[in-house]
Amino acid sequence: MRLLTVVGNRPQFVKAAAVSGPLRERHEEVLVHTGQHYDRELSQVFFDELGLPKPDHHLALGTGSNTAQTARMLEALEPLLGSVAPDAVLVYGDTNSTLAGGLAAAQRGVPVAHVEAGMRSFDRSMPEELNRVLTDHLSALLLCPTQAASQNLEREGAAGEVVVVGDVMVDVAQLVQPRARVRTDLIEAHGLRPGEYALVTAHRAGNVDDSVRLGRLVELLERLDRPVLFPVHPRTRARLDAAGLADRLASAEGVHVTHPLGYLEFTALLCHADVVLTDSGGVQKEAYLAGVPCVTLRANTEWMETVQTGWNALADLDVERALAAAARDVPVQRPQLYGDGKAGERVVAAIESLSY
Ligand code: UDP
Repeated sequence: MRLLTVVGNRPQFVKAAAVSGPLRERHEEVLVHTGQHYDRELSQVFFDELGLPKPDHHLALGTGSNTAQTARMLEALEPLLGSVAPDAVLVYGDTNSTLAGGLAAAQRGVPVAHVEAGMRSFDRSMPEELNRVLTDHLSALLLCPTQAASQNLEREGAAGEVVVVGDVMVDVAQLVQPRARVRTDLIEAHGLRPGEYALVTAHRAGNVDDSVRLGRLVELLERLDRPVLFPVHPRTRARLDAAGLADRLASAEGVHVTHPLGYLEFTALLCHADVVLTDSGGVQKEAYLAGVPCVTLRANTEWMETVQTGWNALADLDVERALAAAARDVPVQRPQLYGDGKAGERVVAAIESLSY
């Protein structure tokens, strides 16, 4: 088979790394990078570190509003689908690249396989939720990380074939976390000691585009009772500058502000953090897999199982709630929620059995 895979941003490079290897053992993959993330720190470093093959096509469509970006991607993908003539198109997660890849393929009658199908925050104000729902309903093959995701699709009456494959990020985490855990030098390089700091990430539009909420994030970091490492996403950096909060953050005692980190370095810092505070979907899961308590700076999450097991707490961007959640104890039990690390192989098997 010939598969055309569309990726565009940081978490998609991680997810594609789990599938590309097993896929290329038996099939041809044409990799398209939309350019949604274009900084070296958010893109190239993941290709280098995770052994993801070089993209065959780079669309360089990284700027503009969600709508404009999606529209330009659709326009660029249509002729590419014509010239590549794939048997199926593979998309990941919930970004503009996911929706554009899915819609462009479905419009041409090419079957779409969606990895991470069925995830829901039930919050339609999130651009990611719109992308997820729409992509699921135009996909022929819905590859779910969990049983709960497949139930969401059943409830919505999604037309495609649903297969629970497990979470592809687990495949990557299982490979990289043991290698990263031994790299305590990467923690010391930031002037930190293993187990004695909080790791923070934040970049969701709902948090950083609103200057009041962004101000609360800065207050939270100032008030945490332990050293903080905050690798700042470019979107967040721009909003901090625009809101006049960058200097205040830079001078906050105990807060180490840095650029976005490569996957190995970030994973080392995650594995040895005392607590993780984040609005990232992927980081919530990776914290669970590493056995690190998480505080989610959102009112909801797609990864509810991490909350139900007590390893994750929803604090929204409420400073008092987040501080209390960061100080809580976590349970001893940590059941396997997201599969056994072989999701990538199951994705390939499901694509092979696609009946069309
Ligand atoms: N990540 C990283 N360096 C960082 C921050 C995050 O390598 O400085 C990784 C993280 O381990 C996870 C992914 O990026 O695999 C999450 O990406 P992001 O938070 O941008 O997306 P989301 O998961 O929220 O869609």
